[in-house]
Amino acid sequence: MSDLTNLTVAEIRDGVAAGTFSAREVATAFNAEVEVGRKLNAYIVETPEKALEAADVADAVRKSGDLKPLSGVPLGMKDLFCTEGVQSTAASHILEGFTPTYESTVSARLWDAGAGMLGKLNLDQFAMGSSNETSYFGNVVSPWRDASGKDLAPGGSSGGSSAAISARLCPAATGTDTGGSIRQPAAFTGISGIKPTYGRCSRWGIVAFASSLDQAGSMARTVKDNAILLEAMAGFDPKDATSLDAPVPQWEAGLSSDLKGKTVGIPKEYRPDGLNPEIEALWDKGIAWLKDAGAEVVEVSLPHTQYALPTYYIIAPAEASSNLARYDGVRYGLRDLPDGAGLQDMYAATRAAGFGDEVKRRIMIGTYVLSAGFYDAYYTQACKVRALIARDFEAAWEKCDLLLTPTAPSAAFALGEKQADPLAMYLNDVFTVPASLAGLPAMSVPGGLDSAGLPLGLQIIGKALDEQGVLNASLALEERAGFTARPEKWW
Ligand code: GLN
Repeated sequence: MSDLTNLTVAEIRDGVAAGTFSAREVATAFNAEVEVGRKLNAYIVETPEKALEAADVADAVRKSGDLKPLSGVPLGMKDLFCTEGVQSTAASHILEGFTPTYESTVSARLWDAGAGMLGKLNLDQFAMGSSNETSYFGNVVSPWRDASGKDLAPGGSSGGSSAAISARLCPAATGTDTGGSIRQPAAFTGISGIKPTYGRCSRWGIVAFASSLDQAGSMARTVKDNAILLEAMAGFDPKDATSLDAPVPQWEAGLSSDLKGKTVGIPKEYRPDGLNPEIEALWDKGIAWLKDAGAEVVEVSLPHTQYALPTYYIIAPAEASSNLARYDGVRYGLRDLPDGAGLQDMYAATRAAGFGDEVKRRIMIGTYVLSAGFYDAYYTQACKVRALIARDFEAAWEKCDLLLTPTAPSAAFALGEKQADPLAMYLNDVFTVPASLAGLPAMSVPGGLDSAGLPLGLQIIGKALDEQGVLNASLALEERAGFTARPEKWW
């Protein structure tokens, strides 16, 4: 079997179970691709032995019929998840060399389900960014290219995950999404990714960015693979106080692209003046595809949409400044102790050396908006607007079951293009942030290629806990988009 790395998660699982190929063959094939793909810089740490170890377990239990839901499936793990005995850095210098003595709940669930780990995937530092350029370990390069031949951004922050999946360096991976970090990189690289309802996946053992927004999710090439992965990842965890104590539905079994009886809303505020005409055209196609699947389509209004981005860029940095206070040179990773320095000097030197520029920017903004004199003007106000944004969605649900929007305002841009202007970078999140602020499940699926040959994504947003509805509408889009494009191998 030469093309094992082109198989989906479902195909690997079923092929291993049927004995068509062994799990070891699959892991070996992916381990080889991970090596070949080093030019993409998608992995910070490679763990080929872990992939083989899980594969051997799968092959050993196959005959006794004791296979688990992900037996024989090797995965990439975003390096925001703490993995026992394997360096976990959040792509930062301050956590370089940090080797957790514990396993995050989500990764533990995946290993318990039989999956193996190919390695730890690169990301924007502390998941702050939209292009992967803030990683201390260097940017990820998208496997996609346009005619300019320039290196393109794979999106962020889960850009190692998106690049690795689209380049076939893993069949699927974990991601995390605080304001769009699963959906935007998925859109940029022609793959799918779902951010479930806030609280579905435990945050325990995930390096915290903005705790009221952070949510783990899955990234893969098909909607079905996302359903399979998410089912293994989700579930109540008493170790996370915000974990939802709700049963995890059988999302894979519940997949259906028949949308009869469903109403899909098109939020008119997501069509700003100057929206890229190719994205607008794809959105219109998406509307036609959902109608074809049996859905009724109506226009809805989410009037506070324009405030979502500024609200997010107050709340997320505020929480980040608090969460990142723990990195002081005492407990984890880096310690910078200048000669003769006292404790305060050590804190300052460690943090100055250990955090990148974007992380420092967020800490400063966050500290400012939480400071005694400005707390009410910024943080309290942002929390109130967040409630209004959530209320917009509640009102929309009176008229529809799901929403369809573009995922991002552009296709992948060139590395370096937006680096000098943080505000231009933040605009990437304009369509993804509202669902994050409201804690709603949302998914990006590839809809087609633009005129430059780069992928564009469509986003489905659903009601809280209705991942099934989101997956099903996404499946209806996937079936009609027929997206089979993949990047040509140049690496
Ligand atoms: N791009 C957004 C940010 O920089 C979202 C990041 C994320 O979802 N982790 O904050």
